[in-house]
Amino acid sequence: VRLTRADLDALPNYVPGRSPADLARELGLPEAVKLASNEVPYGPLPGVVEAVAEAAATAHRYPDMGVVALRDALSAMFGVDAQRIATGCGSVALAENLVRATCVPGDEVVYSWRSFEAYPIIAATSGATSVRVPNTAEHGHDLAAMAAAVTDRTRLVLVCNPNNPTGTSLRRAELDAFLDAVPERTLVVLDEAYKEFVTDPEVPDGLAEYGDRPNVAVLRTLSKAWGLAGLRIGYLVAQPDVATAVRKVVTPFSTSAVAQAAALAALGQADEVRRRCALVIAERDRVTAALRKLLPDVPESQANFVWLPLGDRAVEFGRACEARGVIVRPFPGDGVRVTIGTPAENDLFLAVAEATLT
Ligand code: PMP
Repeated sequence: VRLTRADLDALPNYVPGRSPADLARELGLPEAVKLASNEVPYGPLPGVVEAVAEAAATAHRYPDMGVVALRDALSAMFGVDAQRIATGCGSVALAENLVRATCVPGDEVVYSWRSFEAYPIIAATSGATSVRVPNTAEHGHDLAAMAAAVTDRTRLVLVCNPNNPTGTSLRRAELDAFLDAVPERTLVVLDEAYKEFVTDPEVPDGLAEYGDRPNVAVLRTLSKAWGLAGLRIGYLVAQPDVATAVRKVVTPFSTSAVAQAAALAALGQADEVRRRCALVIAERDRVTAALRKLLPDVPESQANFVWLPLGDRAVEFGRACEARGVIVRPFPGDGVRVTIGTPAENDLFLAVAEATLT
């Protein structure tokens, strides 16, 4: 007897990665280095642990379902009405909520491929039809082809800028033209999970520059630059009707009390976040330069990871890294994504790359 949907068998798991504790045990090492999930390596921001402990003291109570204090803080930070903000259990949950809030079965979701591995999963599990537009030869979104792929069934277009896993980014002029080309009945989601690592002034701030368009929603997360991946918190800024619809479909109380308190404590520390991001960015540029000597096609990354377009060698390279205690993220037949870690972690990774790719 089958109790669950047959189409789920064909879906990949979201995170197929290996646990660092497992790998360290297997290799007999004190610890393994995890460069696989685009986390920032510096620990929680000051004050976060204390805020979490304080929130935990009222763990027997439900959290504020309206997430009022945090939405107010985000509202003040970005100068947008709190009605336009929704929070969720990571921005991946909000992306899923956006599909549920816009699509009925048979409606289409357009995205570039390869991009964030959750997109096909959230489209399929919400009953929407994925329309994948191949990346350009430079590993970025082909916005002209994406605009051309929009039909009268397209409810959502997911634009990942910078793109996970390739690190490529879209420039202002391209995005301007794209947003003008997409019909108003289609919601364009600008997924800016890695926005804080962008240094190219030609790459627009989606919220500041496009946030007021009626059919644009901007997704951000506190998992990356803000160091809260383990507490699961992301936010969305859209027009009030879209944000209200998303708040309707979220799982009740999915922004936990601890997550709300941690986010409030973190958001007060923008200077420290900028300082940490600058360290990551300097390392990203160092790692990119070193890798390009081994693999000239490594694209410029505006995120906190780099992409090695290794094609059929991706899995083998991933295994070689694991054999040396470094967990990276191979995408079979395509490439390998490597998160920027501490300078020592990056050196270890580069030593494996030099030994394996020359
Ligand atoms: N969007 C992109 C492009 C991502 O890479 C990620 C995390 N890998 C997310 C959204 C989701 O992050 P979170 O759910 O932790 O906010």
